Amino acid sequence: MTLDSTLVNIESVSEVVLPEDFQVAFCGHKQNGHLTQETTSSGVQNGFLGNILGDKTHTPLPFKGLSYSVYGWCVQIWKPDATGKAWPKCVWIKYHTSPEGTSLTWATDQDGKPSVYSPGAYINNRSLMPCQEPPVAMSTWQASIHVPEGCVVLMSGNQFVGKTTGSDDQVTYHYEMDSPLPCSTLALAVGWWQCRQSMNADTKDGSNPDVPVTCRLYAPPSLIDRAADELLGYAPKFLEASCELLGPYPFRRLDMLILPKCFACMGLKSPNLVFLSQSLLSGDASMRVRLAHEISHAWFGLLVGAKDWNEEWLSEGFATFIEEKIQSKAEKLYPQLKQLRGVSGQSDTIRPHTVVQFGQMCSRKWTQVHYLKGYFLLHRMASIVGLEEFDEFLFNYVQHFKGQLVTSEDFFGFFVESFSNVPREMKDKFVHEWLERAGLPKSFPKKFDSPDNELVSQVENEVGGNR
Ligand SMILES: [Zn+2]
Repeated sequence: MTLDSTLVNIESVSEVVLPEDFQVAFCGHKQNGHLTQETTSSGVQNGFLGNILGDKTHTPLPFKGLSYSVYGWCVQIWKPDATGKAWPKCVWIKYHTSPEGTSLTWATDQDGKPSVYSPGAYINNRSLMPCQEPPVAMSTWQASIHVPEGCVVLMSGNQFVGKTTGSDDQVTYHYEMDSPLPCSTLALAVGWWQCRQSMNADTKDGSNPDVPVTCRLYAPPSLIDRAADELLGYAPKFLEASCELLGPYPFRRLDMLILPKCFACMGLKSPNLVFLSQSLLSGDASMRVRLAHEISHAWFGLLVGAKDWNEEWLSEGFATFIEEKIQSKAEKLYPQLKQLRGVSGQSDTIRPHTVVQFGQMCSRKWTQVHYLKGYFLLHRMASIVGLEEFDEFLFNYVQHFKGQLVTSEDFFGFFVESFSNVPREMKDKFVHEWLERAGLPKSFPKKFDSPDNELVSQVENEVGGNR
């Protein structure tokens, strides 16, 4: 077995020998005892692992060492002569992370307090934990995290908070994700933050109709009031508007965290948890559309994910396309939201006509091609079938593929099947013209090509200077 792993110091790899009738249990269904894990000479004590495996016998689970080697960006594990069904069902890796690993960023916030967060999605969290690379290798997860009292742990997944009984004033946070997802979607943050909670959102959750989704915003104490004033009122409205457009919200809560200034992205998605840049705090709420973008990733990127790392446009292009629709839908549902806009009364930022020149490159963490070219492609498709019809199609697409990973061909195939007036050949045309070629298709109308438009000329000049 080969796992992704870089700058992770592995101490041991063992096979845990499971009882015949083992079954995986989740904290949410059964939580007992302290989630600690210790080994003795006779086996693994029935702690954290015992809970996960649903072991009720309280007898130590025997374990045997496995051979392993670390090669650069991966760890290889093997058991001689064991293949297929003979391969261990449960492998226990004991390791510690390294401060040099880029899956975690250690930073001091505005208030001088230490914090750590995981912007590691783009390297598949491989320096946070050994894990499997392809998105199709999906998994559930559970975590038990000990921190000093007063410190807050946020993590993707459902949350269960308990206190340790020790005398060390430590608090233990328990999280679990019970729906399988790619390892890249796991996110974690620890810091000395304060919380503001909004009214609950009515998210029409089919699986939990009586449990409204709670929206919570976290930030350093010196930022929390400003951040809450600017963004928190929008969160439940955007969530409700998203549900109208795309169907029930797939998670149980929405936590938003304003990260330290060194966070290099505008936002980062994970189940139940959204990381936000301080750049969103513009003072006039003009960046609120970015919050809509991150919220939409619960559907585009998480509920329906990309099967191939190179097809990130299936989440970023879609989120960029839907962000303004969410905002305008929310303002239609709640006209008073417009009053929350900044005093300047300016509408949304104008998108410059951008020629996309770069494809996916490892050296460019988040290339804009997925956002902008995806956005233009979806607009092109909407113009073919009609805007309202395309909105309805997107709703059906999410419901059809929810819980799955898809390819561009799946999406185009569903599109041509959904509209009898769209020729079948259009599927190959989209692939050929939009995915396999750089830039935008020559046939794509350049609506902003006007020498009379001063703003367009200004943007063209600035973009041209940076090419
Ligand atoms: Zn995004």
